[in-house]
Amino acid sequence: MNNTNSKVNVFCHCKSIQMELSLSKKIDYIIICNCSICSKTKGSGMICVPIEDLIITKGKESITEYLFNSMGHPHIFCIICGTHTHHRSRSSPEKFCINIACIEGFNFNDYKKIVNFDGINHPKDKIILE
Ligand SMILES: [Zn+2]
Repeated sequence: MNNTNSKVNVFCHCKSIQMELSLSKKIDYIIICNCSICSKTKGSGMICVPIEDLIITKGKESITEYLFNSMGHPHIFCIICGTHTHHRSRSSPEKFCINIACIEGFNFNDYKKIVNFDGINHPKDKIILE
C-alpha cells in the first residue's frame, strides 16, 4: 500500500462489486468525516483519488446510487450486501472518496495521520449572505 504506481483491489463485502485502484502516490493520511451519511456508515475512513484512478472491473449491475442534499454527488452502494464503497466528492468533484475498509490489504493501523473533515458543516451547505 505504500508503493507508488501500484494497483490495489477494491471490493464490497460480498465481492459483487470489484474495482481496481491505481495509486499514483503513497497514501499518507486517512479522512474521517462527521457528515450525516459517513457517521451512519460506521464512521469508516476514506481516501480521495482522481476519478480516472478507480475502474470498475466487475459488478456494475450490483451498483446503486444514493443521492441526497445537493443531489449531485452520488454515494455508491452494493445492492446485495449494502456496502458503501465510494462516493463522488462534493469538495473536489474530480475525485472519488473510497471507503478504506473496501481496499484489499488495507490496515488502518498503518496510518497514523487522520484528517477530520467537518462534513456536517460542509462549506457548500453554507448560505452566503451579501
Ligand atoms: Zn456486495
